[in-house]
Amino acid sequence: MKRTALIGHLNTEHENQIVTLQGWVNRRRDLGGLIFLELRDRSGIIQVQVEPESAAFAEADQLRAEYVAEIEGQFQLRPESQRKGGLADYEVIASRVKVLNTAKTPPFELDKGESVAEDIRLKYRYLDLRRPEMQRALMLRSRAVAAITEFLDTEGFIQVETPMLTKSTPEGARDFLVPSRLNPGEFYALPQSPQLFKQLLMIAGYDRYYQLARCFRDEDLRADRQPDFTQLDMEMSFVEQDDVLEVQERLMAHVFKKVLNVELPLPFPRISYFDAMDRYGSDKPDLRFDSAFVDVTELFRGGEFKAFASAQAVKVLVAPELSRKQIDELERVAKQNGAGGLAWLKRDGEGFSGGISKFVGSVAAQLLEQTGVPQGATLLFAAGEWKKAVTALGAVRLALRDLFDLTTGGPQFHISWVMDFPQLEYDEDRAAWTYMHHPFTAPHPEDVALFGTERQGEIRAQAYDLVLNGFEVGGGSIRIHSPEVQTRMFAAIGFTEEQAREKFGFFMDALEYGTPPHGGIAWGFDRLIMVMSGAASIREVIAFPKNNRGADLMALAPSPVEAPQLAELGVATLPAVERA
Ligand code: ASP
Repeated sequence: MKRTALIGHLNTEHENQIVTLQGWVNRRRDLGGLIFLELRDRSGIIQVQVEPESAAFAEADQLRAEYVAEIEGQFQLRPESQRKGGLADYEVIASRVKVLNTAKTPPFELDKGESVAEDIRLKYRYLDLRRPEMQRALMLRSRAVAAITEFLDTEGFIQVETPMLTKSTPEGARDFLVPSRLNPGEFYALPQSPQLFKQLLMIAGYDRYYQLARCFRDEDLRADRQPDFTQLDMEMSFVEQDDVLEVQERLMAHVFKKVLNVELPLPFPRISYFDAMDRYGSDKPDLRFDSAFVDVTELFRGGEFKAFASAQAVKVLVAPELSRKQIDELERVAKQNGAGGLAWLKRDGEGFSGGISKFVGSVAAQLLEQTGVPQGATLLFAAGEWKKAVTALGAVRLALRDLFDLTTGGPQFHISWVMDFPQLEYDEDRAAWTYMHHPFTAPHPEDVALFGTERQGEIRAQAYDLVLNGFEVGGGSIRIHSPEVQTRMFAAIGFTEEQAREKFGFFMDALEYGTPPHGGIAWGFDRLIMVMSGAASIREVIAFPKNNRGADLMALAPSPVEAPQLAELGVATLPAVERA
């Protein structure tokens, strides 16, 4: 069973030669006594013609969609009028056909894949994965891995695997737990990230580490999240923030060049967390287009429009001309994202009409000047507590992007760093301070003194996120390497010495044995590949993903287990009603 070549590798050199191909029947058509087959393998599709008088005809006649076949025949140019470029310029005139295997009728037509219900695609994932779109995505993913490995190996990074069955690593999600049979009543946690282990590797002197690490987070799923996912995890010793960023930029540029032949301009622009929120209403702003907010807080302060007069922040977004229906739709988006409503105005001559126009008479001229709103265009306002107002208007900005294709004409890929995150965040629900990134992130040295004071909310973290087209594709930080600062950080988030020891005692011990300054980052690898391949969901770039209820519809996981297996693990399940 020798193939001449993968289908996609056939080229002019094979012209008029006898080739042997193996693959799946993509389609069969019978026309004028001839059989036309499309034969597919992972590299391409080629048309095969079987003539009625050919010795191959009887065997070819048995072929149906998705049968596995071996075809021998002459590889030749199609008649000029039928050429469509590339491989579609050619066909194979079969001289021998062998059915290698039969197939049941597929439950969906593979070339209608995109329009087939996702549940069906996931149930029959092995068929879905036969589709060229899926194969392209997974091959792109594989090329990205190769490019990453090549770059990091050259730069002196060492690949180390860290455990899957381990102790909890706090990254802000719930843990997946695994009961221990040998230690009844005790549980491993699956890693939310290899964070502590990579820091231990720095303490152990490995200097530069990387790993394509499977991570597990039990959280509600969205189009860009999966319960088990892949990080490109990296850590470096004896570095400051700029050193990490510089290597990351070159790595990302290398990957884009190798995989997509796209040149990313370096260095990546940097924006502070505050500016990102203040101007775009997001800590992962899509900067392929601008549409930054204009701050008009002072303009309305104490004025006649009471709703704005005492607001902490009044932000305005300049939008194209909008219909009432569109404004209603955008207001719905604003409300879903925490705003009370969405005030608006339409530029009308030298003033405004509609919406809140009767309240802005006295500031109309200044509003025109500050926003530069063109004739007929719309102003959309959010007002109130700063974070709430900007977040809601940020969601409206993205809705406008989708409504008006605002990214057209911009760069295909825009990558930036979001920097200077707050070290701590106040969690209203728990009425307690918590970490914003993770508890091992180092604060800016000048801000350390603020720990434990009323101003600890102002501490800036040495943390950075990589943002690509509005997706967070990476996040990292310089780490705390001083045991004393680590203790202060734990105290700031309300961990007593005992709680900290119970959770991370091994790590706190290790910190005291000569920890080098270090820092790193992890990329959300699936999400990066999703954006690079233009896919709408992370599930399109993962071979065997879960659906949005966390289920593997093909393998039927999760699933109940037999009582004896649970007993062996010392685990009993509660009836649904008793679960918290
Ligand atoms: N462990 C972090 C995360 O999973 C990444 C990092 O700080 O390197 O987000």
